[in-house]
Amino acid sequence: MTTAQKLSFDVQLSDHARTAAEREAVLANPGFGQHFTDHMISIDYTEALGWHNAQLMPYGPLSLDPATAVFHYAQELFEGLKAYRTSGDTIATFRPYANAARFNKSCVRMAMPELPEEVFVEALELLVQTDKDWVPTTEGHSLYLRPFIIATQVGLGVNYPSRSYRFMVIASPAASYFSGGIKPVSVWLSTDYTRAAPGGTGAAKCGGNYAAAFVATRQAVEEGCDQVVWLDSAEHRYVEEMGGMNLFFVYGDKLLTPALTGTLLPGITRDSILTLAADLGLEAEEGRLSIEEWQAGCESGELTEVFACGTAAVVTPVGSVKGADRAWTVGDGTAGPVTMRVRDELVGIQYGTRPDPHSWLHKIG
Ligand code: PLP
Repeated sequence: MTTAQKLSFDVQLSDHARTAAEREAVLANPGFGQHFTDHMISIDYTEALGWHNAQLMPYGPLSLDPATAVFHYAQELFEGLKAYRTSGDTIATFRPYANAARFNKSCVRMAMPELPEEVFVEALELLVQTDKDWVPTTEGHSLYLRPFIIATQVGLGVNYPSRSYRFMVIASPAASYFSGGIKPVSVWLSTDYTRAAPGGTGAAKCGGNYAAAFVATRQAVEEGCDQVVWLDSAEHRYVEEMGGMNLFFVYGDKLLTPALTGTLLPGITRDSILTLAADLGLEAEEGRLSIEEWQAGCESGELTEVFACGTAAVVTPVGSVKGADRAWTVGDGTAGPVTMRVRDELVGIQYGTRPDPHSWLHKIG
């Protein structure tokens, strides 16, 4: 349960903050997840004190005992969202309370303490305000925010969850995912591996899900594909999601996305598109789709487009599909008009160039 605990942050500014010239050199070519801003957030939790020791401090390495629980039993999870410099030259994040709520759901699944949503959002605000000069001005670029929590109890006992934790937020300037223009991805249907099974951790954003996925991503690359599509664990037939994005199937003016069965991540972009669909005059449905239906739909022309969605790349067309015993093209293999409409609408809201009828932007400065 989240408590209404009031925390005040101790602020310690960096003596080694980069100069404007050093910062501009990074922002000219930020890539993704390679460079970090000058500060970070840290908040501790113990059973005795609850959440305490909230700090904004200089970005830097952590010193942890090798027997710290997170290194052994992977009791850890994270979130990902972005701060945008909007057209009105304000800085805003997109639906941060949705990330706070998903963070807490993940915490419940991983037997970790929930963090009050307002503390989660306040931590983001404080870090972004302090490092606001790191929010890129280049069109399509953003400041990626990475909140995470780790188990910090020292000891190898495996029978109980950790009794202490640390919540942190770091920030990293990010280039547009599509700096060279929109490029459809090719996907590999993973039938050798399973990402998540009923009762497992598929709906939680815990690092273990990603660690277990790398082998399938490597297989996808060996098969000449960009990304993995995960299928249900029982039959390896029904589509769940991609490695870091949810999927939408376009039938003319109708969207279909796999239902949240507990084995896929409830994406905030996915949820936003389900809401936006009505604004765009599209029907949207959550349901189930087999790989046979996907292939047959593309071959008959009834299934016109497929796109993936998530914070990192917003909306990405899927151009071709390959599995152990099948391969096909989606439409003509290029980005379709519905995909581009959904993408333009969402990006327009995030960067403040289109109206925000659902009040999704959370202004920070
Ligand atoms: N699915 C997985 C496995 C992810 O890691 C992500 C990205 O966070 C998503 C879906 C998309 O979620 P969101 O739209 O909240 O970024």
